[in-house]
Amino acid sequence: MTHRFFVPPERIRGRLVEFDPAQAHQLRDVLRLKPGEAVVIFDNSGWEFDVVLEGIDREGATGRVERRRLVETEPKVKVTIYQALLKGSRFDWLLQKATEVGAVGFVPMVTARCVAEPPDPTARGKFERWRRIVVEAAEQSRRGKVPKIHEPINFEEACRSVQELAFIPYEGRGVQPLRAALDEATGLRRPYSVALFVGPEGGFTPEEVELARRRNIVPVSLGPRILRAETAALVALTIVLAHFGDLD
Ligand code: SAH
Repeated sequence: MTHRFFVPPERIRGRLVEFDPAQAHQLRDVLRLKPGEAVVIFDNSGWEFDVVLEGIDREGATGRVERRRLVETEPKVKVTIYQALLKGSRFDWLLQKATEVGAVGFVPMVTARCVAEPPDPTARGKFERWRRIVVEAAEQSRRGKVPKIHEPINFEEACRSVQELAFIPYEGRGVQPLRAALDEATGLRRPYSVALFVGPEGGFTPEEVELARRRNIVPVSLGPRILRAETAALVALTIVLAHFGDLD
């Protein structure tokens, strides 16, 4: 099995690749790879590269690009999940699973019933952890791009700023199934991108749903059972990608 690594473009100069210290450690001490052996890297350009390792020592690891090819695994419909902050590892779990399934971005949201504290913008620890989770999940699932994690924003601002076709899964009564709403909104066309607004452990308030509706964010049902927030986000993502053939 060929190991895959995300390498940001700034670490690739011409054909020379310079792995970051954590990756050098993994190559050298964990995978015990030797110069001459090959790995695959991707840099968010939509290409992936076969790289032959050259220097692997205490200082770090370098390699040389030998071949490149287009990555075919990115979904055609770009789904961004606007997820109310969740407590504990639930948000981490969603980042990993939704990256595997094909989300292209996450917008952490502060909503009325959020119990989780918004991350302190100066304390980058939580962002660093989130970033590691999506990079690792993108490498493992052979994605061509690492999903973007946006700065947290509050619900009202998210409703105001969203430009794309948007849905708000809501467990209340009288909302149409997501599948039907997708048909109604797009017909046989495929949208370029979709936004999904998912609430916190306590759900959305009726006022929040009303505000979303006024901003053309369509309330939809994910069925009669009440899903945990992270489950709802994953199910909504799956319905959208399956609807447009991105899970074929
Ligand atoms: N109390 C549970 C469920 C909260 S609902 C928990 O601890 O997670 C969390 C969010 O999931 C809701 O705001 C809504 O966005 C979504 N959701 C859950 N079940 C749903 C359903 N059947 N239809 C539509 N959205 C749903």
